[in-house]
Amino acid sequence: MFTDKESFKQAYLMKLIEGEGINLNDATHWDQFVALVILVKEKMSYYRAINQNSMSQGKQVYYFSMEFLIGRLLLNYLVNFKIEDLVREGLAELNINLDDLLEQEADPGLGNGGLGRLAACFLDSMAFLGIEGHGNGIRYKYGLFEQKIVAGNQVEVADNWLKNGYPWEIRKQNRAVVVKFKGNIRTEQNEGRLTFYHENYEQVLAVPYDVPILSYENCSYINNLRLWSAETTCGELDLVCFNRGEFNQATSFKSEVEAISYILYPDDSSRAGRELRLKQEYFFVAAGLGSIVRSYKKKGINSLQEFSRRVAVHINDTHPVLCIPELMRILMDEEGMGWDESWNITVNTMSFTNHTIMPEAMEKWPIDLFKGLLPRIYLIIEEIDRRFKESLVRKFLDNEEVVRNTQILKDGYVWMVNLAIIGSSSVNGVAKLHTEILKEEVFKEYNRIFGYKFNNKTNGVNHRRFLLTANPKLSRLITDAIGPSWKEEAGELQKLHGLKNDRSFLEQLAKVKYENKCRLAERVKTKQGIDLDPLSIFDVQVKRIHAYKRQLLNVLKIMHLYNKAINDPESLTTSHTFIFGGKAAPGYHYAKTVIKLINALSQKIEHDPKVNQKLKVVFLENFNVTQGEFIYPAADISEQISTASKEASGTGNMKFMMNGALTLGTLDGANVEINEAVGKDNIFIFGLTAEQVLHYTRYGGMPTPTLERV
Ligand SMILES: *Cc1c(COP(=O)(O)O)cnc(C)c1O
Repeated sequence: MFTDKESFKQAYLMKLIEGEGINLNDATHWDQFVALVILVKEKMSYYRAINQNSMSQGKQVYYFSMEFLIGRLLLNYLVNFKIEDLVREGLAELNINLDDLLEQEADPGLGNGGLGRLAACFLDSMAFLGIEGHGNGIRYKYGLFEQKIVAGNQVEVADNWLKNGYPWEIRKQNRAVVVKFKGNIRTEQNEGRLTFYHENYEQVLAVPYDVPILSYENCSYINNLRLWSAETTCGELDLVCFNRGEFNQATSFKSEVEAISYILYPDDSSRAGRELRLKQEYFFVAAGLGSIVRSYKKKGINSLQEFSRRVAVHINDTHPVLCIPELMRILMDEEGMGWDESWNITVNTMSFTNHTIMPEAMEKWPIDLFKGLLPRIYLIIEEIDRRFKESLVRKFLDNEEVVRNTQILKDGYVWMVNLAIIGSSSVNGVAKLHTEILKEEVFKEYNRIFGYKFNNKTNGVNHRRFLLTANPKLSRLITDAIGPSWKEEAGELQKLHGLKNDRSFLEQLAKVKYENKCRLAERVKTKQGIDLDPLSIFDVQVKRIHAYKRQLLNVLKIMHLYNKAINDPESLTTSHTFIFGGKAAPGYHYAKTVIKLINALSQKIEHDPKVNQKLKVVFLENFNVTQGEFIYPAADISEQISTASKEASGTGNMKFMMNGALTLGTLDGANVEINEAVGKDNIFIFGLTAEQVLHYTRYGGMPTPTLERV
């Protein structure tokens, strides 16, 4: 194991020759990148081996999420091992630029935006805190599309992130799990007990690929992100057909199965109405729980009675909510437990995060479709619903509305969020305001029944990725000023208060910001051929394109500035660059039109000599985690202007803020808490409050001024 620059260089050269059979002169950047990844993985295995004994006796936490936006890992892991400088210098002596290797790494787009990035940040934090917390998700063959701008329009290109292989993952064929779909349920009385048999099902093999999650400093904790890939079970079905000469049928079954882990649905606000999506949800839930139960038993505890004391399962938004009926199925049908005991264990194992208040984003499935695809799971949900209603009727005899609004099955649909709330011991919103709205409005009936379940967990971001790693210059400045402890404990950043009037510090701070703007400008020049002026103010809005996020409002403001400047060029006192970035769901016409509009405005201004020295608008292609790491540190102004009440929390707001951008925003999501933390003199707030907006929606007017703000 290398410990200094010289031993690193030696080990690295050996790896290239051994692993790839190439010497340094013939190695491509890709070869050089892979060799470095393998060295880092070996270092992990070493730590894992020496820490084996101290691990895996505590409670195991599993974070189930349909999305994980983990970003690139190499630089993060070099920083976490505290070997970035050593590696950078060692490589430089071999005439290799570390930055060239970093650019080789794919950014796995296994998520749409904030929700997926939150999941990745939780994995990082759990590892740092020494919690044995593992991710469970899907290894989509194609991630979220790559966005190109052609003639002002968004063009979607398939994100074939696996085309060269993904060197961080390890395929674990021997940990595969069989998942069953369709078929029918036969019941039988066995010794006075009703027993359920699932017959004539189609089976799909879920094969796990593990990605190591390494924490900062605390390298003894290496957690796991387990991503499932769908395959046919040993191909016997194919073979039967093949032997009969039915080639098409054989291959079509294979593609039908593999389609389950083919693509990430590029839609972050409303349900994609496809059976395939429901298949995906059950697929990774059943595979994940199957493997959890298996590893639980491997520890020598045969009874699952202790399950909820040793295992916690978290459900990130409603997509993994089938965890609830699936665990019930395992406990009853496979372990032979009764309903009440199974239900107790299940509820105590599960916790749930709600991410939205938008009714159109509440997941629901037509009962017919559901029943056909997941017959046993449907029966269990029916029984959960029946028992819940029964318990309610006793308590809320008087109130039909409570009963109606809390049912899982109604109007021909399975309402997933209702199942999540009934079947979890904890339900959280993602910012103070959001949780209040959940308790007072969206789930007010549940709040009457299960008040004790509701709680707030304001979203957060990993400052070691979005500050320490993404902004090395600012990090160095901060460490020189207040010491290094902020790297472990972000609260230590408060010490910077002491420097607020320190001229020299402020000058250096301005210099760092300028250099980060140059860094972004250079990248944009290489990628898109656009010149950015680092002396202008960088006013940035990067996030998914959505009506409620109001990129359009920002555009209207720029148009206003432009119109004013045409008549009065002096009205633009400083030069201003408005930077946009973000993907629009392919089927979301409005959002795509907004992108088109931004680019049209950009052209218009570019070609107008009266203003183009002072005003510029750019749309940066393909916003993703990697792009964000260059953009957030370079921003002067952070646009967080969603319609109040609509942005549950936001996390971009936090990334900008920790990189020293000023927030221009509404009192929405976590902006409310940022406002409290920085004080109103350090943030620029405008617009209606959430309460006023909700009042508008309901009554079409402003509330009377005597009403207090939410
Ligand atoms: C942080 C992040 C988001 C979320 O941004 P919001 O401003 O909170 O919507 C979306 N996409 C990527 C790639 C991110 O890193």
